[in-house]
Amino acid sequence: MSVDALLSRLIGVRRSGNGWTARCPAHDDRTASLSIAVGDDGRVLAHCFSGCPVADVVGAVGLSVADLFAARLGDHSPMAREERRRAARDADWSAAVRVLARESAVALAAAKAIEDGALFDADDIARLREAIDRIQCAREVLTA
Ligand SMILES: [Zn+2]
Repeated sequence: MSVDALLSRLIGVRRSGNGWTARCPAHDDRTASLSIAVGDDGRVLAHCFSGCPVADVVGAVGLSVADLFAARLGDHSPMAREERRRAARDADWSAAVRVLARESAVALAAAKAIEDGALFDADDIARLREAIDRIQCAREVLTA
């Protein structure tokens, strides 16, 4: 399967560095939590920063994890592989940085609200938990 086959099934696809971002089809994604890239072995890589397993992500658009491995590459030279490896890493990093920028704003707003003695309702707490999970996930990508 080519990466285009996955991209064509996603919503909100945008070019991001050497990869793409899109709305994750496996959860109610209001922001672009999904990072897509092509790995050094030609595999299609998909990473949801809200923590959806890759099987759920591809399953939600009628594909299987095996489809991601089916890509055929013309160029198997070490240089081409290294180039694809770097592209996949850059795509993940730029997605992680965007997630951090967005979700840290949510965490900062919550910190400010605590400082002001504001009360949190269930939705606020759920959104804060989501932000914390995403920040955690982005940190793992950036420090791997
Ligand atoms: Zn997701």
